Amino acid sequence: MGFVITPKVGFIIDQSIVFGGFALGLISKNPLQWYEVFFKLYIGLNLVLMPFAGLVTLFCKIFGKRIQDPPKPTQYLKEIFETTRCYWVVSLLAAWPVQRYLNGELTAYTMDLKESFVGDSIILNTLFMVFFFLLVDFHTYWKHRLLHTRTFWYFHRNHHSFFDPSCFASFGVSPFESVLTFGPLLFDQLEIANQFKLCTWLHGSVILFFIVLNIYLHCGYTFDFIENTLPKLFINTSAHHNLHHSKTKIHFSELLTLWDYLMNTGATFYNKQEFQQKLEKEKS
Ligand SMILES: [Zn+2]
Ligand SMILES: [Zn+2]
Repeated sequence: MGFVITPKVGFIIDQSIVFGGFALGLISKNPLQWYEVFFKLYIGLNLVLMPFAGLVTLFCKIFGKRIQDPPKPTQYLKEIFETTRCYWVVSLLAAWPVQRYLNGELTAYTMDLKESFVGDSIILNTLFMVFFFLLVDFHTYWKHRLLHTRTFWYFHRNHHSFFDPSCFASFGVSPFESVLTFGPLLFDQLEIANQFKLCTWLHGSVILFFIVLNIYLHCGYTFDFIENTLPKLFINTSAHHNLHHSKTKIHFSELLTLWDYLMNTGATFYNKQEFQQKLEKEKS
């Protein structure tokens, strides 16, 4: 048996991220400002995204088609706890670049699209952006598969306790997984970041799309129009990700289902017989 993160070690790592990451604010250039930025981010994320998740839930209940049974009320509380803990970690990470930005220091972000260009060619820069986007999403696919290995399962098992998730489980992931997903926010702190620029509004729009999509992926309902349109663009859907929660060993893609297609982990791309065979194989 290979190396496995035990619940005890996993718990210590997660707690170290939550509390250690908070204490790290003390070594920032201006701790008072850092904590102010952190709390504003944390409160802002909760105030915007929790009610939004509630609104989407309501909308789904009225207009959507239920995939599985609705979650029990106690599950909602667990989902909210896990999600708000993820927002805590995201705020811990984001406080660093936001503080740099507020102080007029060099950051990897710029509002000027042209300033984010490498050279002058629009075609080359568009290709570069597409490549960058694919690379980031490819990272999320492999991060997810890594978390499904015996070694790292501790950090992902809570997300899978939501067998039939709701919108409130969208970011219900462990602190360790939050760091793996949102850690690139710290890219800004590296010297190399001064060589690259990311366009804030373009980058922000993709992140916003991912947030909204992720809430839809966990809603537990489907809408025919969305389910028929997004797969044509290789974009993940509620039906696709819900199967990941119910079957666990398939559908690891987070934004693009392209990776499930290429890596042969996407049941929706198989025929029924192939799908059954794959599930039988996973069980044995
Ligand atoms: Zn998973
Ligand atoms: Zn999920």
